[in-house]
Amino acid sequence: DSYLNPHYTFDNFVEGDCNRLGRSAGLAVAERPGVTSFNPLMIYGGVGLGKTHLVQAIGNYIKDRYDNKFVLYVSSEKFTNQFINAIRNNTLQAFTNFYLHVDVLILDDVQFLAGKEKTQETFFHIFNHLHQSGKQIIMSSDRSPRELQGMQDRLLSRFKWGLTADLQQPDFETRIAIIQKKLQSDGIYIEDKVIEYLAHSIDTNVRELEGVIVSLMAHASLNRREIDMDLARATLKNIVIDNEKEVTVDNILDAVTNHFDIDLSELKSKSRKRETVFPRQVAMYLMKEFTNLPLKSIGYHFGGRDHSTVIHAVQTVSEMIEQDKDVEKTMQTLYRRFNRVRS
Ligand code: ADP
Ligand code: MG
Repeated sequence: DSYLNPHYTFDNFVEGDCNRLGRSAGLAVAERPGVTSFNPLMIYGGVGLGKTHLVQAIGNYIKDRYDNKFVLYVSSEKFTNQFINAIRNNTLQAFTNFYLHVDVLILDDVQFLAGKEKTQETFFHIFNHLHQSGKQIIMSSDRSPRELQGMQDRLLSRFKWGLTADLQQPDFETRIAIIQKKLQSDGIYIEDKVIEYLAHSIDTNVRELEGVIVSLMAHASLNRREIDMDLARATLKNIVIDNEKEVTVDNILDAVTNHFDIDLSELKSKSRKRETVFPRQVAMYLMKEFTNLPLKSIGYHFGGRDHSTVIHAVQTVSEMIEQDKDVEKTMQTLYRRFNRVRS
């Protein structure tokens, strides 16, 4: 058994700027394992960005192509546990021998080996042997080899022999494509604007994006309804509430000055320039939304303006959100800075 999950394939790994290098290097390795200079192939990137999917896709591809190659996928955690058991049971020889017979070794999450000297030592020997015999080694890590602490230098230097490619956060277009692919494979249709809303609201990682889609599908089927904008909003709201933190005046001033790239002193000034007035109104609107401050106190944060100015600002921004798509987007972006979704 290779411990590969057949669902992870290249076909359903959506390509985007965020993963192009890793994906094409992976494909090159899959087509000619052990032969390219991408040995080892090291894929690194944050949680939920597709490392396991990609390295398993390589394994599945090789397994389908060559039925005489022994492809083995193992997490570093499992590798470590096997090693510890082997020591305990006096079967270290058998453990090592097993790994020396692998044609393609896929070791997932190598950062887990950090600080585990003995395990690293054994992996070092396995690595050398396989590499010398022209066998392919593929690894993943949640950080680059440069940032891998607690790892022996001799191992790290070997990681750099081949190719290191990172997976980044998917951009908006890739997120759309990932959602579409997922819906397609489940035979579900939802409107483009709902897809866009989801892609816009969830920009952390692919796993989270998939989680929301799965929970949307569950809600839809439980309540026998379609996945529309209302359901999407409600679902997202529930999910996001989990990590809501209090939003303070400083958070808001920070977010607004950052987003609009203006100085705090300018924001608080008497200036009536358009470039200043709008951000100031937005800041007031957000304070009204997120804090319990009375309108008068909100005005106080902006050079002692009175409460009617604040009311006017809140009204203006509310109307603009309704009428102007760009303003709506701006507000969504700001909300997301506070881990909130506008609904
Ligand atoms: P990691 O190992 O980096 O934490 P995973 O490989 O487990 O991330 O990916 C998390 C989820 O996101 C998986 O269900 C995976 O299939 C999916 N996924 C990640 N990247 C893509 C992509 N480019 N296209 C399609 N699905 C993806
Ligand atoms: Mg993983």
